Amino acid sequence: MTTLIVTNDFPPRQGGIETFVHAMATRLPRNDVVVYTSDEPGAARYDATLPFPVVRDRARTLLPTRRVTRTALGLAREHGADRVWFGAAAPLAAMAPELRRGGIRRMVATTHGHEIWWARTPGADRLLRRVGDHVDVVTYLGAYTRARIAPALGPRARLERLVPGVDPAAFRTGEEDADGARLVRERHRLTGRRIILCVSRLVRRKGQDVLIEAMPAVLREVPDAVLVVVGQGPDAGRLRRLAARHAPGRVVFTGGLDHAGTAAYYAAADVFAMPCRTRKAGLEAEGLGIVFLEAAASGLPVVAGDSGGAPDTVLDGVTGSVVDGRSPAAVAEALTAVLTSPEERRRRGEAGRGWAATHWSWDTSAHHLDTLLDPDRPLQRNRTAGSAVALPASPRAPGDAARRPSKSG
Ligand code: GDP
Repeated sequence: MTTLIVTNDFPPRQGGIETFVHAMATRLPRNDVVVYTSDEPGAARYDATLPFPVVRDRARTLLPTRRVTRTALGLAREHGADRVWFGAAAPLAAMAPELRRGGIRRMVATTHGHEIWWARTPGADRLLRRVGDHVDVVTYLGAYTRARIAPALGPRARLERLVPGVDPAAFRTGEEDADGARLVRERHRLTGRRIILCVSRLVRRKGQDVLIEAMPAVLREVPDAVLVVVGQGPDAGRLRRLAARHAPGRVVFTGGLDHAGTAAYYAAADVFAMPCRTRKAGLEAEGLGIVFLEAAASGLPVVAGDSGGAPDTVLDGVTGSVVDGRSPAAVAEALTAVLTSPEERRRRGEAGRGWAATHWSWDTSAHHLDTLLDPDRPLQRNRTAGSAVALPASPRAPGDAARRPSKSG
């Protein structure tokens, strides 16, 4: 049976939720999916490369309006989909009751960091309650986001952890991708320099500003260090001005790159750093940070800010370090420690590689999501209130399963 994926976040736009949704869509069994998403410049060309249909609404942002809900149901009927995955729970999973009435048998909604804002904003939290009451399973990234989102979902919500991963075939070490790494270094005239890399949207909470402010202290200990900032976003102008003030000639801004392009930057780097920080009294926090997993898979030690779920991606002192994302001095110290010790850098990079390979697999996550989406697998409450487990497929006849209340158990 087909899965209808309803999402605002889908490539070619870049970001964590987009990466997550794309990874699941391409890994669900037999690519038996249809995606319903918003429009985006360059979308048609991108969609043509995918092995499943992508239906673009005329809207740049989908909202759970009657028109959008009707379109989703129409697509489900047209493509024979009896299950729906909401790539981000807020706001689109609010259409769940109407989809249920329209015959959708299983619905899973995934939360990320951004649902924390919804959970803590009066009015917006009501939408999450509706989601918790009506979808079959709500997934969360880790303990940090769960603690902040679960109260708004209400007592009926079934929660299950669904983590992002990293594609080990897509990210390689500098030795494995020596040509890619060399080309990056030549392109920016960085041959022989020690490269600190940050890959991320340019928004304040990611901490590129603190990284730039840390550069003078880093340069005192590591005079050939260079910071390479990959990504685009609203903070670009301010960051360039900060770079001109704190580390003139020592910060390279590449702008946004396509996905194939970023891998060579990881291969070229010596250390990855993103000192993310929590802002707006906790409303903005790092959900998890897929980039830390990409860096670890590329054999890089990581320096991560202590925001939200970011510490989940690092074994502190083993694969990298977790630092106060507001402190340029702490960031500089962590960077200097690995840049001045090739042995420590290698040790942490190797440990990170192993950690990424064994703990952060998109394939495992996609299999897990597929299990949760199977309407013929009854969901049962765990002993922990609010958790869900998908049981092995029951031998019941399909018609029997169709009549079973979807929130049974
Ligand atoms: P989030 O965007 O705040 O959710 O941060 P994450 O670290 O979880 O995810 C970011 C994802 O977007 C990663 O897969 C990055 O590689 C990707 N990304 C961010 N900026 C860029 C960029 O400029 N180019 C490309 N190709 N990917 C980017």
